[in-house]
Parts: sequence; structure tokens; C-alpha cells
Amino acid sequence: VRVEDKLYYNRYLVDAGHPHVRVRAHKTPSPQLLTLLKACPARCYELNDNGQVEVTVDGCIECGTCRVIAEPTGDIEWSHPRGGYGVLFKFG
Ligand code: SF4
Repeated sequence: VRVEDKLYYNRYLVDAGHPHVRVRAHKTPSPQLLTLLKACPARCYELNDNGQVEVTVDGCIECGTCRVIAEPTGDIEWSHPRGGYGVLFKFG
């Protein structure tokens, strides 16, 4: 079973206006930010038309991968979603 197929089973309650992951403003992405494009299993990170890394947290499974890679360098800010919001794992 592919990861994408498993992600399909999860449900998310998006906390509109309160993203739990934020990318620090930048002109050109750091190596850490570029790593997130491939490291995030839910593909939350993308390059925008200006070549900067953006995050869309709607499908975030709160795995913490990006937190380990890019929070120590200050490239992102990461906090747990507010109570009641975030991912709901249907199977385990
Ligand atoms: Fe992606 Fe995991 Fe970071 Fe969420 S916590 S944005 S799923 S790497």
C-alpha cells in the first residue's frame, strides 16, 4: 500500500487562521527548507512561483519530521494544533 493511499483515510479539522506550522519569510530557501519539499510525507511543502517554500498544513499528519529538520535552524515555527483541531487517524 502506498503512503498516499494510507493518507487518504485520515481526516483533518483545519483550524482556519491558526496554522500550527509557519515558514519563516525568506528570499531564497535554505537547504533545510528545500529538504522539506521531499521529506514531508504529506507533501505539505511546495515551492511558490517566486521560488520560496510555502507550507499548507491542511493535510499535516503531525509526524514532526519538518520540526526536526528545520525548527532548530529557525526556518520554521512548529506547535501542536489547538485542542480539537488537526489530524484524526482513522486506523491507529
Ligand atoms: Fe509534513 Fe510531518 Fe511537518 Fe506535518 S509535521 S508538515 S506531515 S513533515
